Amino acid sequence: MLMPPFELHHPASVEDAVALAASLLEAGEAFDWVAGGTDVLPNYKWHINPKPHVISLAGIESAHALSPLEIGCMVPLASLTVANGVHPLLAEAAAKVASSLIRKSATVGGNLCLDTRCFWYNQGEDWRRSIDWCHKADCGTGADCRVIPNQNTLCVATYQGDLAPNFMVLGAEVVLVGPKGERTLPLHEFYALDGMKKNVLEEGEFLLKVVLPETALERTGSYQKLRVRDSWDFPEAGIAASWIQGQPESLALASTALESIPRLHAEEVAQVLQTDGMNGSALAKAVHKAVKPVNNTALPPRYRRSMVRTLTKRAVKALMGE
Ligand SMILES: Cc1cc2nc3c(=O)[nH]c(=O)nc-3n(C[C@H](O)[C@H](O)[C@H](O)COP(=O)(O)OP(=O)(O)OC[C@H]3O[C@@H](n4cnc5c(N)ncnc54)[C@H](O)[C@@H]3O)c2cc1C
Ligand code: SF4
Repeated sequence: MLMPPFELHHPASVEDAVALAASLLEAGEAFDWVAGGTDVLPNYKWHINPKPHVISLAGIESAHALSPLEIGCMVPLASLTVANGVHPLLAEAAAKVASSLIRKSATVGGNLCLDTRCFWYNQGEDWRRSIDWCHKADCGTGADCRVIPNQNTLCVATYQGDLAPNFMVLGAEVVLVGPKGERTLPLHEFYALDGMKKNVLEEGEFLLKVVLPETALERTGSYQKLRVRDSWDFPEAGIAASWIQGQPESLALASTALESIPRLHAEEVAQVLQTDGMNGSALAKAVHKAVKPVNNTALPPRYRRSMVRTLTKRAVKALMGE
């Protein structure tokens, strides 16, 4: 597992980072952003789509900013604590990511921009060669998708980040910067269904920070995570819930690790609230119906989907203090 060579760049400001990205793009040179490196560097070691250039975001001062309503992309997950003024739901979710060692390097931006995962893809180069590759890293062979064959335009690799659904239920927005300027959009509009594209970031653009509305501070929440080993595994399914206590109409539910995107279940929640009120079983049934996991993570999709009911019921019960 030798790291392929790449040139590492260290811009010291947002402007420098964007200018550097633009000049590499103009020269036809491919690059990746790197934050904590806990995902992208292991992938490089496995020769999974390495690039000749890597741009570190660590030198950008504003990317390290941390306040209750604004979290810079370079803030380490270990800093997402209630003592640091972070919302308790985000602190709960961050504490469930990987291990304490990884959380010291892993960042908020890296977690939200995490590559999608699949057991045909997150493997060493020799392993992937032995199965003649797959569409997401086809090494120029035009290989098909191994999970859903004969649909070569789409990858259904699973998004397995823990923070996204929790930020979503608090109403978070993300600030993106790139050669075309700055834009802000709700986090639930950030993700793209194709597991290769992953999100709506354009060429040369990066996620600078996450912003929460004032109302997030009034919300209480719960995050329920299914994983193989509690010590450090990725989520196999995750349900986040939040509400303003006593106001069912404020309820928000979001899921992760069940599809190629984390998903805010606004429509399902609105429908159930109208017909059944804040009923845990009805909400669990609606979310269960909405998600469609495929067979590409450690646990079988039928089991992960069936656990969605349990996780949703637990999350809603926790909100109601039961
Ligand atoms: C053993 C192990 C267990 C893990 N368990 C979990 C888990 O339980 N839950 C979980 O959520 N994750 C888990 N992870 C994945 C990963 O460690 C975390 O998601 C981490 O938060 C990623 O952040 P990073 O800063 O290290 O990202 P990096 O590795 O630096 O980057 C990840 C990706 O995001 C891109 N990127 C980074 N920052 C930005 C930015 N600001 N703008 C645009 N693109 C950006 C990079 O180009 C790369 O594609 C685990 C990893 C390991 C090795
Ligand atoms: S879902 Fe298909 S294309 Fe995507 S990583 Fe898995 S096998 Fe490859």
